[in-house]
Amino acid sequence: MVLTLEGVSKSFGKDNTYVEALKPTDFHLERGEMVAIIGPSGSGKSTFLTIAGLLQQPSSGQIMINQTNTTSFNEKKRAQTRLKEIGFILQASNLVPFLKVKDQLKLLDKVNSNHLSKEELASKINTLGLEKVMNQYPSELSGGQRQRVAILKAIYTNPAMILADEPTASLDSEKAFAVIELIRDEVKSMEKAAIIVTHDTRLTQYFDKVYEMKDGYLNRIN
Ligand code: ADP
Ligand code: MG
Repeated sequence: MVLTLEGVSKSFGKDNTYVEALKPTDFHLERGEMVAIIGPSGSGKSTFLTIAGLLQQPSSGQIMINQTNTTSFNEKKRAQTRLKEIGFILQASNLVPFLKVKDQLKLLDKVNSNHLSKEELASKINTLGLEKVMNQYPSELSGGQRQRVAILKAIYTNPAMILADEPTASLDSEKAFAVIELIRDEVKSMEKAAIIVTHDTRLTQYFDKVYEMKDGYLNRIN
């Protein structure tokens, strides 16, 4: 099992600002699994994803990554686990504004030696249609290009698990399919796992399981 959540919940605020964004949730993700989470805005999807990816602490419950219980991890250990095991494609872009695209990848070389080979990288760049932007800065890219660079960064370090929040939101159909096929190919051929938050009904055919988030409750619907 790549990811296990047991009784994980998250609440914010207190008194009249109190909201339980994620109700106590059990969840399992296996190697080779490609999972979608759909649901309305404000239902708790991003909260779930960032807690599963150790970016936020849950209010209760336990999170196991590759069978290791992370509950007692300090921030340093959490950061190491994120770098090693998790590829994030988040809504707020994870690009470094003052580095060219190719240098963003070089930066990752320093913290993670398990990255793609030159040949593998060239092939992913080709699939994502990013050949022409490797020498550019994030500010020079379109929204769709930035999103695809974020995807390249997420898979570059060979993570066990890919967590993506609306990765195809600003892409046309053709590029959306290319992106999701690339993630699916990573998951299936490299025995990884992915959780993808999406509103994109064009994509449902690519997923092994579909969950719906509603008012903080996560339920499997497909
Ligand atoms: P979604 O991604 O499905 O749109 P979110 O997980 O972002 O939903 O938010 C779920 C609920 O939790 C919302 O009511 C939101 O306002 C609240 N929420 C999320 N993050 C915070 C935060 N840091 N502080 C206070 N409330 C938050
Ligand atoms: Mg969200």
